[in-house]
Amino acid sequence: MPFDLSRRAVIVGGAAALLAPRLIPIGTARAQDAVQMVVAYPRKVGDLEIVAISDGSFAFPGPLFVNIAREEVDAALNAAFLDPAVPMTIGVTAHLVRGGGRTMLIDSGAGGAFGPGLGRLPAALAALGVAPEDIDTVLLTHMHGDHIGGLLPGEVAAFPNAAVHVSEADLAFWTDEAIAARAPAEFQGAFTLARAVASAYGERIQPFSGETEVVPGVTSLPLPGHTVGHNGFRLASGDQQVIVFGDAVISAAVQFTHPEAGFVADTDPALAAEIRARFFDMLATDRTLVAGTHMPFPGIGHVARAGDAYAWAPEEWHYG
Ligand SMILES: [Zn+2]
Repeated sequence: MPFDLSRRAVIVGGAAALLAPRLIPIGTARAQDAVQMVVAYPRKVGDLEIVAISDGSFAFPGPLFVNIAREEVDAALNAAFLDPAVPMTIGVTAHLVRGGGRTMLIDSGAGGAFGPGLGRLPAALAALGVAPEDIDTVLLTHMHGDHIGGLLPGEVAAFPNAAVHVSEADLAFWTDEAIAARAPAEFQGAFTLARAVASAYGERIQPFSGETEVVPGVTSLPLPGHTVGHNGFRLASGDQQVIVFGDAVISAAVQFTHPEAGFVADTDPALAAEIRARFFDMLATDRTLVAGTHMPFPGIGHVARAGDAYAWAPEEWHYG
């Protein structure tokens, strides 16, 4: 058979649908769309089910990293078979968590905030049998648009019954008009969206601070730097746990080998780097299962030591 990439993409998508029922393809099988299928990856953690849902991806033109030499970034990208001259594609994953009598979302994807390559979460939720009104709890790692845009894709709240838990520090920062007035132009949309989300959800916005059990079995884990109140969530059930770490890592290709590399959108890249180094050390020592927003999909795995730095060890496809 002649090698034809567009045809092969269809075959791969179709075969995956037949042979791996835990991969849930959604949408059309037209050749040009097949490689952009929205997929969801469910996994058990104790009695909880965590489902990684791809919201899509966006391209981010460089330079993307700070506090690191350009040559080191290029070498890391080359080592990952990525072309430094091509704008980096960044995937966005949201997480559905079911169990303990709750239907929760950790972050909400971008909605319409980051262009047409994102905003696939609603279709994925529908395919999983989850209606917007079924979501009772939303846990935000921080208030950037690719994490909160899905809460307000239009004029009204997307999840009418959800309490939205967000760190007090992030809520205060991104809804502060005085801080917004001093911020660069490229961040104005983030401030506007955060204020709109806070307004749309009103009293259902529930701020928390520090390391606290936000809902039973879910504990916040402060990981500041990417934003002032950025945090992960530790989900525990029985003797199993997973930490969903949001944007503590943006680029798997660069920031495991170079934890010191800040990202251009970090509010405080130096603090983010310091926190990332400590976080990696903890994860490698404790061998904790983690999931991230911008890891290569489905983005569930472990952090391993590799010399003086670290490596991403993606979990092998989990059929159980
Ligand atoms: Zn993000």
